Amino acid sequence: MRIGIVGCAGRMGRMLVQTVMDADGVTLSGGTEMPGHPLLGEDVSVQAGGAPSGTQMGSDPDALFAASDVVIDFTVQALARLHADLAARHGVSLVIGTTGLQPSDNEGIAAAAKVVPVVQAANMSVGVNLLLGLTRQVAAILGDDYDIEIVEMHHRHKVDAPSGTALALGHAAASGRGTALDSVSQRVRDGQIGSRRRGDIGFATLRGGDVVGEHTVIFAGEGERIEISHRATSRTVFARGALRAALWTKGRQPGLYSMRQVLGLD
Ligand code: NAD
Repeated sequence: MRIGIVGCAGRMGRMLVQTVMDADGVTLSGGTEMPGHPLLGEDVSVQAGGAPSGTQMGSDPDALFAASDVVIDFTVQALARLHADLAARHGVSLVIGTTGLQPSDNEGIAAAAKVVPVVQAANMSVGVNLLLGLTRQVAAILGDDYDIEIVEMHHRHKVDAPSGTALALGHAAASGRGTALDSVSQRVRDGQIGSRRRGDIGFATLRGGDVVGEHTVIFAGEGERIEISHRATSRTVFARGALRAALWTKGRQPGLYSMRQVLGLD
């Protein structure tokens, strides 16, 4: 299986390159970066701290998709639609980890998923996918006597908020209660906001330092509080999950799949 990495010099991109280089039975088909990136022309693996791969970093995603069986995308929101279109055009499976996507991006991804297998997840770690299932279950059992608050912290470079994982946890909690997140989501609190509305799901976003990713779902009731947490201490958990998703697409029917399906948790 030939695996391409778009955004290969990013924090996740470099980790993905190393993970693919270290895996058996797969080859790195190449990597792209933004036009003008200072590392264009460098060996894709060497710039990520590995042994030479013989592929040079380019800026032409069309050429990368043409040379790949699967492409892994952990880049920026603005590229999601382009990469989805290229996957469909070249018949290449796609693994999307990029967060902060807009409804129009998701429409493009859904269209591509009619033609090729696409795995999309805001968090590719096994632990967070377990947390999603537990959150749905606990929310269903407790009902809205317990107030749900979702707290997340990430490194100072993260550009979207709340994190894609926090929003996925919010959707899981809302679905456990049989409601839609959009109608109960409370993403900003500032000033004289009045008392908490029953059934709301609140979000708090913390940013700082080099925190890889921390999420806690709080169920606060009268006289007790339940908290379920996940802490990622290394980005390798996301990269290994993405590789697992890439391998899982082999021979799969076109469709939009979740990481829970890849991990066999659904
Ligand atoms: P990053 O900023 O380090 O990496 C993004 C890379 O994309 C950069 O190297 C940038 O130069 C590159 N890029 C920008 N424009 C490009 C273009 N036109 N062509 C090719 N490359 C281009 O960010 P990061 O920390 O690696 O995170 C990337 C994304 O992955 C974010 O959306 C983040 O939230 C998400 N993420 C998801 C998971 C998950 O498990 N799903 C885990 C970690 C991060």
